[in-house]
Amino acid sequence: MTEYLLKVLVVGDGNVGKSSFVHRYVNGQFNKDYKMTMGVDFSMKLLPWTDTEKVRLQLWDIAGQERFISMTRIYYKGTSGCVIMFDVTNPDSFQSCRVWKQDLDSKAMLPDGNPIPCILLANKCDLPSRVVSTEFISRFSKENGFVAWMETSVKDNKNISEAIRRLVEEILSM
Ligand code: GDP
Repeated sequence: MTEYLLKVLVVGDGNVGKSSFVHRYVNGQFNKDYKMTMGVDFSMKLLPWTDTEKVRLQLWDIAGQERFISMTRIYYKGTSGCVIMFDVTNPDSFQSCRVWKQDLDSKAMLPDGNPIPCILLANKCDLPSRVVSTEFISRFSKENGFVAWMETSVKDNKNISEAIRRLVEEILSM
C-alpha cells in the first residue's frame, strides 16, 4: 500500500466558510456556530484512493482574518495543493482571491518549479442573495490559473468531498 501525505491549504477571507468546510469534510458535520479560530488549525483525514494507494490529507485552515493578509513563506512550505474560497454573497471576498493566488504563487511552488495546484471554491451557493455570477467566476478561474472551480455549500454538503477529490486528482497527476 502506498501512502501519500499531502498538505493542503485552505485560504480566503474571513467568514467565507473555511473552518466550516474543513470541519464538514473531516467530521461530516455542519456547525452553524462554528467559532472563528485564531491563527492556524490543521486537521488530518485519511482518504482511500485506489486499491493500492491511500492519501493522508493534512488540511491547514487559516482563520481570524477578515481580509487578505500576506502569509509567511514558512506557512506555505511543503504545500501540495491549495483551496481558495470565497463567499458568493460577498464580492470583496471574491476580489481577494486574486491576491490570495498571487501570494501563493509568489511564495511557493512545487519542487519541479510548477505552480501549486489550486482549486477555487464559490461557497454559500445555497443562499439566494448571491452576487457573483458563474460566468464571471469561470473566466476569473481560467485567467488566474486555477485547475478548476466549483460551487459549494458547506451548509447543504454540496461538492465538499468532490472538491477535495478534484484537487487530489490534480496533485497526484503532477
Ligand atoms: P471562516 O472564517 O472562513 O473559517 O468561516 P466560517 O467557517 O467560520 O463560516 C462563517 C459563517 O458562514 C458561519 O456562520 C457559517 O455557519 C457560515 N457558512 C459557512 N458555509 C456556509 C454555507 O455553505 N452556506 C451558508 N448559508 N452559510 C455558511
